[in-house]
Amino acid sequence: MTDERTLPPGLHRDTLALRTGLAPSQHGEHSEALFLTSGFVQPDAETSARRFAGTEAGFTYSRTSNPTVASFEQRLAALEGTEAAIGASTGMGAILMMCMGLLKAGDHVVCSRSVFGSTLNLFGKEFAKFGVETTFVSQTDVAEWRAAMKPNTRLLFAETPTNPLTEVCDIQALADLAHGAGALLAVDNCFCTPALQRPTELGADLIIHSGTKYLDGQGRVMAGAICGPSKLIVDVFGPVVRTAGMALSPFNAWVVLKGLETLGIRMQAQCANALAVAQWLETQPGIARVYYPGLASHAQHELAMRQQSGQGGAVVSFDVVGNDPETARANAFHVINSTRVVSIATNLGDTKTIITHPGTTSHGRLTEAQRQAAGISQGLIRLAVGLEHIDDIKADLLRGLGTLKS
Ligand SMILES: *Cc1c(COP(=O)(O)O)cnc(C)c1O
Repeated sequence: MTDERTLPPGLHRDTLALRTGLAPSQHGEHSEALFLTSGFVQPDAETSARRFAGTEAGFTYSRTSNPTVASFEQRLAALEGTEAAIGASTGMGAILMMCMGLLKAGDHVVCSRSVFGSTLNLFGKEFAKFGVETTFVSQTDVAEWRAAMKPNTRLLFAETPTNPLTEVCDIQALADLAHGAGALLAVDNCFCTPALQRPTELGADLIIHSGTKYLDGQGRVMAGAICGPSKLIVDVFGPVVRTAGMALSPFNAWVVLKGLETLGIRMQAQCANALAVAQWLETQPGIARVYYPGLASHAQHELAMRQQSGQGGAVVSFDVVGNDPETARANAFHVINSTRVVSIATNLGDTKTIITHPGTTSHGRLTEAQRQAAGISQGLIRLAVGLEHIDDIKADLLRGLGTLKS
């Protein structure tokens, strides 16, 4: 917003991840300053009036804008290649902000039925209360999206790859469909991050981020963001945050800002670990199926490689054997409970590997019918692969896999 650091044009993304942001303060700090302040002193009443009216750039109050948050927003926008970005308190706060800014009673949304559980609830329950109708469709079948379109469809919402089954949708095809109908396409880019996938290069209008995941990358804070054109970020979503208050805390913005500096190398290293685990899992007894976009056996492997810079991401899911749901769940719990290194938690996008049973956690609030429609079986385990040595991760999984009673 103000005082963006002047950098030469044409810098590589890896360089922008370190160098984009506001200019340093008068003290010349090398690491970006953390401005933990709710308000900003104005030089005089006239300037204050202009800043509040939005006719002059300048900080007034941290619910509206803050220098540390602005540095994070500029850096993330530079990585995604969008004109602008706006921070939010969490990833869900970002999706809420987008819905409040774009939708009104009588509008229609088309959304993949495989998106994050809370996103399903936000569209299907919370916004349904306000008269916004959502049709949930197949993640991968563009014909279903096309068939769901209505004259009042304003928004198509996709997440790719999805959590936890890593299903990949064709961003370009969905963007064409949206634009042909005068609607917008928003893509939740949480799993890939701009290090692997830049949805606006494929035609998407808006990008959603949970900064809680890979952008921070070390499980320290919660954060969210929307990236897109200034006419939406500044003119539509800015006023929503000012009014509704899902603003990003400066401290959290600072942590994620510093996290972005290592995003590229973390993603490369975690993708390499994940691919190795996925390939190894495919050869292990006790495994019914492995879901990982980097495997040739993945249903959208080629599309994923095209969209994701040739990388599969760092989340691997797999079904353990079990002839009925109870046996499958017992086997999954045995594998999870036998680990001694990886963490049993529901987060992902951490440098520490996390193991999760989606059916009873992230997707536990869904009905069994919704869960089955989303393909979440009781034997499903999600592994968000971190940076531990690959041999230690394999050995940890083998403690349970090697001792399954079939
Ligand atoms: C975690 C997550 C979110 C929500 O982010 P929060 O920061 O937890 O609110 C949204 N989308 C996906 C794909 C996620 O994994």
